[in-house]
Amino acid sequence: MRTANLDNRLVLVLVHDDGAVDVEKASSGLFSADPQAVFDRWQEFTAWAQSPAALRADRVLVDESLLGPPAPRPRQVFAIGLNYAAHAAESGADKPAYPPVFTKFPTSLTGPCDTATLPSAVVDWEVELVAVIGTRAQGVREEDAWRHVAGLTVGQDLSERLVQLAPPSPQFSLGKSFPGFGPTGPVLVTPDEFDDPDDLAIGCAVSDETMQESRTSGMIFSIPRLISWISAICPILPGDILFTGTPSGIGGARNPRRFLAPTEELHSWVEGIGSLRNPLVAGPTYPDGLVPVPGSPRG
Ligand code: ZN
Repeated sequence: MRTANLDNRLVLVLVHDDGAVDVEKASSGLFSADPQAVFDRWQEFTAWAQSPAALRADRVLVDESLLGPPAPRPRQVFAIGLNYAAHAAESGADKPAYPPVFTKFPTSLTGPCDTATLPSAVVDWEVELVAVIGTRAQGVREEDAWRHVAGLTVGQDLSERLVQLAPPSPQFSLGKSFPGFGPTGPVLVTPDEFDDPDDLAIGCAVSDETMQESRTSGMIFSIPRLISWISAICPILPGDILFTGTPSGIGGARNPRRFLAPTEELHSWVEGIGSLRNPLVAGPTYPDGLVPVPGSPRG
């Protein structure tokens, strides 16, 4: 099953059909139009989505420019650093023994075609597979973890390397939370749609130059392992999202270093889900009072 956020309304996307079903209308109000609310009733919703009422409902056309994030207002956003061995190596870090976890504040989340504003000349790309939680996970065993996942989507963990890495204490969460730094979409795909949800091609390109190309099977900590690890510490709630880390090929690790520039387009994809196309524009520079420490930004 595939769902999407179409102009802030939850829709069911029909693959063998050009259209989508407006969930609130087709369910006569049983389910809210709010794309975030559905995750609190995910199991009930997935059952309804296979009902005749859903499948025979009137279709609406999907205008991709109106797509928003599949989970627009998660209560918690988890993100993982250094989760592919080649990316840890290019970042000058050892392969981690446990997952480095940070957050992207939810105001950074946008949709698959939304513009990202660049606050500096050292904004980097990080394509990532993103999992959305469908049922509360607390103390979940690895072998049970996929059952807590509502679906998978594509994400970009855009990263401003000076704010992220300036000493004395790196600010991963702030450096990755400028407005527009968390595009996700275009659709949410349930895990059963994949032959193997742990092994998907993933990549990104900047203005048609491929920068990252890998497979999610290269993750050091798989999605089940991450859910087990995090949920042993804090509950993961329905509608929360998990950025699972980026493969190698970031700009800060290139020689010479290469960062995003205004007028470029960032294209990100994951096999079986779709792609993000985010235009980049110059924006206001750093907020007043924030003086980045010159350094050597790298991923
Ligand atoms: Zn990342």
